[in-house]
Amino acid sequence: MKAKVNEGCISCGACVAACPEVFRFNDDGIAEAYAEVAPEYEKPALEARDACPVSVIDVEE
Ligand code: SF4
Repeated sequence: MKAKVNEGCISCGACVAACPEVFRFNDDGIAEAYAEVAPEYEKPALEARDACPVSVIDVEE
């Protein structure tokens, strides 16, 4: 499973809080997915996607 943060992140921190194993802030304060989603983190990664207030996170098989 892979995650991607598209343009439009408002730096709210919800995804980083929900799944820090996949999401982090880059040097510009924008969230990025920095790791493949390991099986044990699929659920929190999907929760992070659903928690994004501007719906800019894609999670794909
Ligand atoms: S939840 Fe969405 S808006 Fe908030 S930091 Fe993550 S990608 Fe950005």
